[in-house]
Amino acid sequence: MVNTVVCKKEGCVGNRFKISVQRLKVVLICTECRTCEKYDREMNQNVPTICRQCGGEIFKVCKDVEKNEIYFQCAECDRKFTFSSML
Ligand SMILES: [Zn+2]
Ligand SMILES: [Zn+2]
Repeated sequence: MVNTVVCKKEGCVGNRFKISVQRLKVVLICTECRTCEKYDREMNQNVPTICRQCGGEIFKVCKDVEKNEIYFQCAECDRKFTFSSML
């Protein structure tokens, strides 16, 4: 089952994020309301902060609970980057 990550701020339905990595922690920044959401689990993988295919900076984020994977899907070119889940 794949869950799309949506902004947790009340009243915001944003599901596109800019991604930044601070001290090995992943930060999702909602493109609608600019709320930052920080994930505590540390990552040893190279999360894309820009799309390696088109250079886009905005991603949809989906979690596959069964496979324990996370996808970052570029909002520009739809390219998917898959990682083992850290969320
Ligand atoms: Zn938001
Ligand atoms: Zn792209």
